[in-house]
Amino acid sequence: MSRTYDVAIVGAGIIGLAHAYAAARRGKSVVVIDRDKRANGASIRNFGFITVTGQERGESWALARATRDIWADIAPQAGIALEQTGLILTLRRPEAVAVAEAFMQTEMGEGCEVLTAAAFRDRHGQIAAHDALGALVSSHELRVESRLALPKLAAWLASAHGVTFLTEAAVASVAPPRIETSRGPIQAERAIICPGEDFVTLLADRIAAYRPQKCRLSMLRLASPGFRLPAPVMSDLSLARYAGYAALPEAEALRRRLAVEQAPHLDNGVHLIIVQSADGSLVVGDSHHYGDLPDPFAPAEAEACILDEFSRATGLHPPPVIERWVGIYPVADGRRFFIDAPSDDVRLVIVTSGTGASTGFGIAERTITDLFGPGKGASK
Ligand SMILES: Cc1cc2nc3c(=O)[nH]c(=O)nc-3n(C[C@H](O)[C@H](O)[C@H](O)COP(=O)(O)OP(=O)(O)OC[C@H]3O[C@@H](n4cnc5c(N)ncnc54)[C@H](O)[C@@H]3O)c2cc1C
Repeated sequence: MSRTYDVAIVGAGIIGLAHAYAAARRGKSVVVIDRDKRANGASIRNFGFITVTGQERGESWALARATRDIWADIAPQAGIALEQTGLILTLRRPEAVAVAEAFMQTEMGEGCEVLTAAAFRDRHGQIAAHDALGALVSSHELRVESRLALPKLAAWLASAHGVTFLTEAAVASVAPPRIETSRGPIQAERAIICPGEDFVTLLADRIAAYRPQKCRLSMLRLASPGFRLPAPVMSDLSLARYAGYAALPEAEALRRRLAVEQAPHLDNGVHLIIVQSADGSLVVGDSHHYGDLPDPFAPAEAEACILDEFSRATGLHPPPVIERWVGIYPVADGRRFFIDAPSDDVRLVIVTSGTGASTGFGIAERTITDLFGPGKGASK
């Protein structure tokens, strides 16, 4: 109790760490408190795919660009490897080509191009399926290995920015200047709560007002295919799922065709992301199952659909599965994230769209400006 921090942050996932960085960069003294020894939730179970292209047009797309720039700036300082850059979204149906071409006509097409089938084969023949009609290629994306990146980010925040970490400490109440934890009280003038999918421990009524649900995802790691992917890979299914493409009028025809040709994939919320790690292995996913309490039983059908789409999109036989896991992220109708202000000195920040690695640093800049800057007290 001897020290009073400028801000206490509950949660050491990427959203908590992004807020710690934004506050520390402004010279604030910061303590991050988590019930676990280190991040172990959605933030280390994800692809580590920092995606710009495909984010919802407008606010999310802008936040993703800002977040990507911050990752690019701090990764070398924190010793975090940028494992991959860019994106190749393979196109296998005329309806998918139409969505990609419509996307290119928007402001979001800047830095992207649509390759013809011949150009795709010529440049990236190893991942061009026999029926590939081309590819949407983006230069914007970054990829980190989240299970390594999060601990490195936390260590760098501590060593380079003086952030204090209090781990294995559950926070039971937040009423600045007093924060009650299972390891005793902490003093902080302000608090930011970034609880991820914990909707009940703190501010349960405030969170419930957003009517959040949870989404469970199935993820796989496959053995190395024996070559380096030129970039992370996505496919037609992603065009019907990612809001930056799916909201375009051209996506409707693609959705209708996918409903006929890939109904089990849609029923399991499956679309394809393939990213590659330093050892050559591939992180591949994912499926989406929604509920107020997703059970831990990942259906085999979802995994089969993911591997099937892997083959269709790349023309490759999937290498052996070497790891399986599930992850959960919060969702809320019509919101990509929210910043709630239960009082002048407390903010609650939850990303409700499975995009926290891609938008978190941008969101954190807003929260910190709101909390410490001229807009103090405002709520989004
Ligand atoms: C399988 C999967 C794949 C994904 N892929 C991507 C991707 O490639 N790109 C992307 O941008 N996004 C992706 N996402 C989404 C992204 O991972 C999340 O949006 C992000 O990790 C959310 O971060 P968070 O810090 O809010 O939550 P979390 O990582 O869940 O962290 C919350 C932390 O708060 C702590 N906590 C909560 N309450 C308390 C309390 N009372 N006291 C103490 N500690 C507490 C928890 O212990 C936890 O460590 C994916 C998500 C999943 C599940």
